[in-house]
Amino acid sequence: MTNKLKYFIGNWKMFGDFGSFKIIQEVNRYIYKNKRLDKKKIVLCVPNTLIHFFKKKLKSNIISLGAQNCHFHEGYGAFTGSVSATMLKRIGAEYIILGHSENRLEGETNQIVKKKIISALNQKLKVIFCIGETFKEKKSRKKFSVLRKQIKSSLEKKFNKNQIIFAYEPVWSIGTNKIPKINELENIIKFIKKDFRILFKTGNSPKVLYGGSVNHKNIKSLSSITEIDGFLIGGASQSAKKFIDIIENYYK
Ligand code: PEP
Repeated sequence: MTNKLKYFIGNWKMFGDFGSFKIIQEVNRYIYKNKRLDKKKIVLCVPNTLIHFFKKKLKSNIISLGAQNCHFHEGYGAFTGSVSATMLKRIGAEYIILGHSENRLEGETNQIVKKKIISALNQKLKVIFCIGETFKEKKSRKKFSVLRKQIKSSLEKKFNKNQIIFAYEPVWSIGTNKIPKINELENIIKFIKKDFRILFKTGNSPKVLYGGSVNHKNIKSLSSITEIDGFLIGGASQSAKKFIDIIENYYK
């Protein structure tokens, strides 16, 4: 266990309505009372339909709000059904998840992810950049090359890397209750940080989160990996109790 402050970022996916504000209120109360938490690092990425409503109702900035995707085109345009980073920033989003495997599975390529990152960075959104291998890629020992390719083809040296947080999310662990072996995960996180330093010729490592079936039980073993800078939590973040239990057990 470590006392270093960590990110706890929720990804609500396509869940939630106005009534879900009670989840936010409960998490808000918990964080407010809990001195050891860095308030800037608790983020909930909610559906676009809720960002503005939650932002207006939240009287404090204890919880940051984020979006889960955007169109790569900045500003406005003829893209039926899409929302741009510009629009998300204007309604109160501070963070945005990009490159999530659920979108990659629908055809989002590394090149598209890169364009989305560019527009999000231009809008001063903090990017949660998801990378991860499929089960097939893991079995065929391609995981490191897949991760390298995702990083190399979606980022550029000139990007403001301080605005980018990595989320390592093996596709096979999302919503499956399976997590990587602790020693394997530790090696992957180290690999991502090192590869980034080499690729972008920098001495600074990026923040790297782990995401995939994080819950109140496995968080204890995950907390032993000091290189992990926090967690991206899907299913469990849709319940205030489950989300809070994860944070509680992390610091126990
Ligand atoms: C996710 O979809 O980003 C995620 C981590 O999901 P889950 O926690 O439900 O596996």
